[in-house]
Amino acid sequence: MQVENWQARTFTNADGEERTVRSGDVMDPTGRCRLTSWGEMSPEPGAFLHLKGARVQYWQGSPDLVIDSAEQVIDLSDPPWDAIDPADHWVEVDLTDLVNGGSRRGIRTSGTVVAIANNSGIIERCPECRRVMRDGECAEHGPQRGEEDVRLRFVLDDGVSNASTLIGKEATEALTGMDQGQIRDAIDASTRAGFIATLRERFLARKLHINGRAMVDTQGAILMADSVEVDTRTPEEAANEVMARWGVVL
Ligand SMILES: [Zn+2]
Repeated sequence: MQVENWQARTFTNADGEERTVRSGDVMDPTGRCRLTSWGEMSPEPGAFLHLKGARVQYWQGSPDLVIDSAEQVIDLSDPPWDAIDPADHWVEVDLTDLVNGGSRRGIRTSGTVVAIANNSGIIERCPECRRVMRDGECAEHGPQRGEEDVRLRFVLDDGVSNASTLIGKEATEALTGMDQGQIRDAIDASTRAGFIATLRERFLARKLHINGRAMVDTQGAILMADSVEVDTRTPEEAANEVMARWGVVL
């Protein structure tokens, strides 16, 4: 697999010992995932690694690879595939297949916006746990001075399945063409309801392409979007494309 980034974090465990855990995002042609190492290793971004006997551990529903020793890693100077561009490595997965499968990173999927949540726009996060606060309170930590963040919450639907979709600050700013300050000003000027109404006007019933990851559990699927594109084709163009692909003649 190809290493995208790598970090080391030191902490003190329950026995008072100092431990270092190293982790990073890794990719192969089928997708990407997280690699955690308890052995000392510091691969450069772009390095190719071959792992022996890695374990799989589930973290927030996503399968992560874990190795316990640096000896489980072979650094390949001769990569088994052409270098992958991390900024553009997304595996296309049908929304219904995602909803019915397990959690995955590095996916690209699409669906039509069928709902936009009222708490889209500026939100307050708990400074302790980063959870979204309601009415100045965190469900876990009580009343807090929240930290302002930007997020959109859409529901995407492909006609068969749907998934709640969280669009973080960077992707929201790119999608709306507004930065955090402009979004705050828009909400102040026209109330949150007015801001949500403009979002609905712009995005409801539009088809979106999402790059990001899917978290799937018994409650359903949540897509976390790293970037979002609006499908600018008219329904007619989209229909023609489908007919051309499947050889349909009217
Ligand atoms: Zn909290």
